[in-house]
Amino acid sequence: MKLLTLLLVIGLLVALPSSAPAFDPVVSSSGRTPRVSLGDGLTASLNEKDGIFLEAVPRKGEGLLAFTRRLCGDDRLSPQILEANGANSGSTVLKAGMRYHIPFDLLANEWHLKMVQALFPGDKGQADGWRHEARGVSALERESLWQISLWFTGTGENFRAIREYNELLDDDVSRGTAVVIPSELLRPAFKAVLPVPEKPYHLDYGKDDKGEYAIYRLRPGEALYSSVVVRFTGRVHGPDVNQLAAEIAQRSGVVDVTDIPIGYRVKIPFDVLQPEFLPEGNPRRVEYEADLRASAQFSNQVKAKGLTGITVIVDAGHGGADSGATMGGVWESLYVYDIAMRVKRVLETHTAATVIVTTRDGEQFQVREADVLPFSRGHRVLTTPPYAIEDARVGTNLRWYLANSLYRKTTAKSNDPQKVVFLSIHADSLHPSLRGAMAYIPAAEKLDGRYGKSGAVYTSRKEVQESPQVSFPREQRVESEGLSRELAKEIIAAFHSGGLQVHPFKPVRDRIIRNKSEWVPAVLRYNAIPAKMLLEVCNLANDEDRRLVQTRAYRQKVSEAIVQGLLAYYGEDTEGPATKVAR
Ligand SMILES: [Zn+2]
Repeated sequence: MKLLTLLLVIGLLVALPSSAPAFDPVVSSSGRTPRVSLGDGLTASLNEKDGIFLEAVPRKGEGLLAFTRRLCGDDRLSPQILEANGANSGSTVLKAGMRYHIPFDLLANEWHLKMVQALFPGDKGQADGWRHEARGVSALERESLWQISLWFTGTGENFRAIREYNELLDDDVSRGTAVVIPSELLRPAFKAVLPVPEKPYHLDYGKDDKGEYAIYRLRPGEALYSSVVVRFTGRVHGPDVNQLAAEIAQRSGVVDVTDIPIGYRVKIPFDVLQPEFLPEGNPRRVEYEADLRASAQFSNQVKAKGLTGITVIVDAGHGGADSGATMGGVWESLYVYDIAMRVKRVLETHTAATVIVTTRDGEQFQVREADVLPFSRGHRVLTTPPYAIEDARVGTNLRWYLANSLYRKTTAKSNDPQKVVFLSIHADSLHPSLRGAMAYIPAAEKLDGRYGKSGAVYTSRKEVQESPQVSFPREQRVESEGLSRELAKEIIAAFHSGGLQVHPFKPVRDRIIRNKSEWVPAVLRYNAIPAKMLLEVCNLANDEDRRLVQTRAYRQKVSEAIVQGLLAYYGEDTEGPATKVAR
């Protein structure tokens, strides 16, 4: 019975009148050969042997090159057009009235979308990819994933990724089955029409006997440590990331972390999830959102053209005996000091800001005109008297004492606490997969309590004697978080627009999470200046970042981006003197 129907259909097709000449390649032996007219002598066609292709009748007087350009976007493809039609490759004359066969691959992007829409009316773009509804090309009304992969991604090789993403058991699908081709794999024409997702990720939630968890399905090209652990748990330090990745893998039933199927359901326990990724209404997320709202009520009210009247306190991390992070012979202390010197120079030559630096290497401030910097342990914190950095902790504590003293002096003059900013420059040593800049600002909730240091190394300094202890009322802490976040966002935005790498997830953070604890860096925590941040310019554990920081050009660009960010924070857009800085 089925065979009889098939024969009947073939009979009908053959009997249909056609304008095609004798060697028209369109004739197919399959029963499922939809042909949809697109007008202007064009027909979108589909058959089992050739897949999707276009039948095209040349326009009157149209030559081969013009014809090829119109449909393929590039007339250099004309030999392939001739070849696909069994024509002599030497000829350049098109036969009037003939239907030419143009393979899908040769067509310009715009046709890919038009033809698929004509042949598969049930298809549509959705946030995570292209949803294709199979109509069945073969006599058995099936489509192979290889074919689907070829049509939508340009290569059959992605069939396995598509199968895993859709959790299919077979390598082909029957008529009516919907298959989603993940956005990462799509040909440009399909990718371009996907709706913009509300959020760049999708999480579901579940619960088992070990507790509640979020479910994230891995996408093509994603890895557990970077796309799950770094992104959703806030861990960035190598050992933390690797340990948590192993725990999450075990919890999720992953056997081999290096070979997790696309679409695999990874379970992330609630207790390691960052609050913004918890379900709406979860108490920890509610509290987090309330804190954000409270601090966002404070924003910088000072506009200062060319930073007139603004004091910028620039702090280079570490120095002296404290080299900071050291990777592949690169000392953090040397490179961040050079960036601080460059920030000072850019500010002093292109803006009206007053610049105060917290440390100095040697007798004078100096920008080194070298890519790789010479080793030095000569940095002192510029307290009264200065402190040659021997102990990293003392070095850090004396910086905030110094910053607080400078803040008291400047605000006594300007009477405006918003006219001072504090910027500490560092470079990270994180999981080697990460690149780019990240800013730390103080979380209001982490700044409570009273704090002060004792011991001769402190009490011998004038800045400590002035005000040995700090404590900040709640309102002040919340305001500081708000202003600091605004400042950090501007500087990170300037990195973006300066073409500098930025940490891919959450580049502005209000705490360090490491080794199962959370804290605000001391130089910010006890710092009285309302707008303050610690900038990690790059990740020294990443080979490319480490190579870049050892070039003057990069350090100069970083310095200029920092100044751009400061200008933006004080209401100067890029049309002003800032443009000069960018050059
Ligand atoms: Zn550091």
